[in-house]
Amino acid sequence: KKIQPKKDTYVIASDSTFAPFEFQNSDGKYEGIDVDLVNRIAELQDFTIEFKFIGFSSAVQAVESGQADAMIAGMTITDEREKSFDFSTPYFNSGIQIAVKKGNDNIHSYKDLKDKKVGAKIGTESADFLEANKDKYGYSIKYLDTTDALYSALEINEIDAMMDDYPVIGYGVAQKQPLITPIPREEGGKYGFAVKKGKNPELIQMFNEGLAELKRTGEYDEIIGKYVKDGS
Ligand code: GLN
Repeated sequence: KKIQPKKDTYVIASDSTFAPFEFQNSDGKYEGIDVDLVNRIAELQDFTIEFKFIGFSSAVQAVESGQADAMIAGMTITDEREKSFDFSTPYFNSGIQIAVKKGNDNIHSYKDLKDKKVGAKIGTESADFLEANKDKYGYSIKYLDTTDALYSALEINEIDAMMDDYPVIGYGVAQKQPLITPIPREEGGKYGFAVKKGKNPELIQMFNEGLAELKRTGEYDEIIGKYVKDGS
């Protein structure tokens, strides 16, 4: 028996550019793993959604303030976030990684970041990691709003390194962003679809049901395979 939606339309907040999870294609239309997953799950489970691609920290605030019903934005499930969000079952295993400009061969470990400027997106797992290890390694942190802004800042040497989710950096490299990743990644982050704690429980249930179905039918693997090629 299908779960009944309780709203005519669920507003889903997301990041503005976080390829391959959400990004605008050459027609200006949003696509990506998160977009395709939620669109298919909404079809399978018979509910209507409206996406708002407003950026990661804006999406967090939109869900917290009730302006959005849920978010999907390559959002890592963390103990801290579980205090204010309810998450779906994890839908993607991720992790975070440092990237530097291609051709920079001075950085081989976190220690080499001493006195350097490292960029991260506000409110992210990478930002938390950098903050927690700042004194140990002696770098400073520059906060920017989007992954594209990090790539640009690296390009013009406004920052010496950046930290972001490794599948995103990997996709950037595959798309010929001039980046290298000289430091092994931090493993372990898992992405979840999130609602405000205690709100829209049926939406989490429908997401979980739909995700399980996409996994059973192999469509989940097709969606991932469309955006993540082996070796990238
Ligand atoms: N996975 C990271 C986090 O949850 C980054 C998400 C993002 O930038 N969209 O903090």
